[in-house]
Amino acid sequence: MSPRFLLALRMTASPALHILHVDMDAFYASIEVRDNPSLQGLPVCVGGPASGRGVISAASYEARRFGVHSAMPTAVARRKCPNMVLLPPDFDRYTRVSRQVMEIFRRYTPLVEPLSLDEAFLDVEASERLFGSAAEIGQRIKRDILRETSLVASVGVAPTKFLAKLASDLDKPDGFRVIEPDRVREVLDPLPVSKIFGVGPSTAKRLASLGIETVGQLARRPRAEVAQRFGASGLWIHDLAHGIDPRRVSPHREEKSHGMERTFPEDIADREELAVLLLSFCEEVAFELRHRGLRGKTVTLKARFGDFRTVTRTKTLELATNLGPRLYAVAKELLRKVEPKPLRLLGIQVSKLEDVRAPLQGILFEDPSPGRAQWLASQERIERATASADQVREKYGQGALVPASLLGRKRGRRSPRPQDVQSSEAHPEGPDKATPPSSEQ
Ligand SMILES: [Mg+2]
Repeated sequence: MSPRFLLALRMTASPALHILHVDMDAFYASIEVRDNPSLQGLPVCVGGPASGRGVISAASYEARRFGVHSAMPTAVARRKCPNMVLLPPDFDRYTRVSRQVMEIFRRYTPLVEPLSLDEAFLDVEASERLFGSAAEIGQRIKRDILRETSLVASVGVAPTKFLAKLASDLDKPDGFRVIEPDRVREVLDPLPVSKIFGVGPSTAKRLASLGIETVGQLARRPRAEVAQRFGASGLWIHDLAHGIDPRRVSPHREEKSHGMERTFPEDIADREELAVLLLSFCEEVAFELRHRGLRGKTVTLKARFGDFRTVTRTKTLELATNLGPRLYAVAKELLRKVEPKPLRLLGIQVSKLEDVRAPLQGILFEDPSPGRAQWLASQERIERATASADQVREKYGQGALVPASLLGRKRGRRSPRPQDVQSSEAHPEGPDKATPPSSEQ
């Protein structure tokens, strides 16, 4: 089959307008302003302290006018905007609002693919008979979010994920943009190539050296030439420059791992203090796994010493878990294998994830002894008990139930920053900037 025919075939594969990208505006900062109206109109930032190694996780639009943006070191932000109001992140609260927003999405379609706490792709093709066109659904979602959370979202509506994400960004804040299939060229042509998923600064530089600075210029180059110079990712970016993006909205996107890590304001040598931190990480990660309906088998501890040397220690469990105490038992063991020097960073990650609907009993086929069966039954009882505890947490917040050993510590002092929580996801279909590490627009 000729490449040209294939291209034509792929271009006709997804012409309809039914993908939405919804992105909350300055999410964390907006929640802070909403909950404390005296902050209205001020340059508000959420992030770590300027004195330590803090970074900005979110900046209000007032702060952005001073050149402050997320992922910027707080010390730099403070220089650019001496009057900024800096608030420590309240991850529990942001997560609760996020769930509220995601629930609004699910009223309109089950095909919701969250990219982070504050943005998601939606496929509304099957919902249009019920709720109106994709653009109408986008408007309704924007209205629902404003009415129910008093927060503002930007919405992009387009035939593909790439274009929908692009569209939501075009009129931010309070944006609403539809890219009709027959207007794709017009919108794409003048944009800089850096707007394409997968085109980072170094690729953009190489493209510029070939005289390619806009998406239109890239699209007009022969596909074979781009492929020859950039390999498989060349084909990918050339497709995107043509508005071709075969990725579907997948609500059950396969997650590879889930974990969190923290850089401390000062290196910590006290093993007991590190163990308590580790316990809180394990509880948090376990909670998030349960919330996502997952269990994990492999536990990895990451430690960075004062001199930036980083080590990892890994152990794979016989049986997957999403229980904090079990993760902690392994994590503590792994911490003991790290030389006892002061640490500047500590993290825990769980991988080899599986769906909780996969029964634990599966392993009985390998070891059908009665003792084994009893042990499995007890594990399942604990999982069920933990699930009911989770309901309390979801209702009253993460701090409502904590392990006894975390009580008596100053609440919030060591609470995780949102940029610490990470999730890595599989991208079988090519390079993708859809899930940036933590930056939040
Ligand atoms: Mg956002």
